[in-house]
Amino acid sequence: MSTALGNHILVEFMNCDPHVMNDVAAIERDMVGAAQKAGATVINSTFHHFSPYGVSGVVVIQESHLAIHTWPEYGYAAVDLFTCGEMNAWISFDHLKECFGAKSYSAIEMKRGSVNLLTRNDFDISTARQKASEWRNPEFFTRNVWFTDKDENQALSLRFTGEVFFDVQSPFQRVRILESYKYGKMLALDDMVMTTENDEFHYHEMISHPSMFALKNAKNVLVIGGGDGGTVREILRHDGVEKVTMVEIDGEVIKACKEFLPEIAAAFDNAKLELIVDDGIAFIKNAAPQSYDLIIVDGSDPVGPAEGLFSVEFYTNCYNALKENGILVAQGESPKFNEKAFAELNHTLQDIFGKDKAPVSLFFVPTYPTGMWSFQYGLKGNVSLKENISREDIAQFVDSKGLRYYNEDVHFGSFATPNFVKQLLKRG
Ligand code: SAM
Repeated sequence: MSTALGNHILVEFMNCDPHVMNDVAAIERDMVGAAQKAGATVINSTFHHFSPYGVSGVVVIQESHLAIHTWPEYGYAAVDLFTCGEMNAWISFDHLKECFGAKSYSAIEMKRGSVNLLTRNDFDISTARQKASEWRNPEFFTRNVWFTDKDENQALSLRFTGEVFFDVQSPFQRVRILESYKYGKMLALDDMVMTTENDEFHYHEMISHPSMFALKNAKNVLVIGGGDGGTVREILRHDGVEKVTMVEIDGEVIKACKEFLPEIAAAFDNAKLELIVDDGIAFIKNAAPQSYDLIIVDGSDPVGPAEGLFSVEFYTNCYNALKENGILVAQGESPKFNEKAFAELNHTLQDIFGKDKAPVSLFFVPTYPTGMWSFQYGLKGNVSLKENISREDIAQFVDSKGLRYYNEDVHFGSFATPNFVKQLLKRG
């Protein structure tokens, strides 16, 4: 008969792999695995990824709990293995030491709740026992693993299943395919949500169709970035298009999306598509002048490989590569998340294309921080996104293609700019 109600092992795991220490999905998986390996019955797991880094979480087991807090910047994890009954928590300890690649550690084991020191009260155990006996192990447990896309002041968190379908550190970024409960599978680059199965059409329909109806018969289209394939899929819905060139810097993104987001990556085998794995910044520098009707910059946020996709030089090269009466459209960040990048991009486009030639369209993407996002345009020559656009043509196309976001009202409505955005875009 045990003299203590519980057994508590306090562990200091040190010199662990800092990347693992910052990986909420991996830590949740390993902590749940540690419990199961020691034969515990898992009731629930809740894990959270902190800003700018670090993970905290707990696995509630029928035999008590396993908890963890990590400091990736020190390669350190503080772990609590609290168990009662016959469970041998040292099995969990060994599993975690392995998973975290801990090169050193210390551990203290202590008995908790010494029955000699405790006085049993007349708590009517029968009712609790009655309730407990009605509990049937549901053979599954709720997992609360949160993926968070954030800056220092605001964040968007999505609960995901803990399943990681693809996880590769490419030369440019960390490429992951995760599965969220609400939005299905999603592509994350580093810690930023790029696209999800359940709201990708918001973004991909709005980055492509407004320009196609303004140009009416665009034949030659260049897409820079867009590794998930959603933008080229939408462009190739327009039968008049003769050629689409897509220049994506990271082949791992294309591979991940082809395999795990096939509906978004549906057009990668289209005969009209030339798929080039290369840096779009270098590609546009060497592009022939006046060769494209439409250039779409479907890039990620202005960090890492995409930083240069927000530069004056890059957009000047885009301007030169556009035909007369051509359109440039770029992923424009949000007036409520990355305000500085949003405003600076528009000022750059105004400088290169002209003060009244850089309209902004606003639309909603629920899985981007704030949900309010933009595309920013550069109009070369006389082309317009508002005049001579046939509502009937749009309506017919939307119907025949079964579009779910874009339509004739959204086309014109998306260029309605709220006052605070007009203020943001004002110079000086
Ligand atoms: N919808 C997303 C957003 O709003 O952030 C963008 C999606 S798309 C996946 C972004 C793509 O741009 C990524 O696949 C990334 O690898 C690619 N990219 C980033 N920098 C690039 C560059 N310099 N040249 C070409 N592709 C680039």
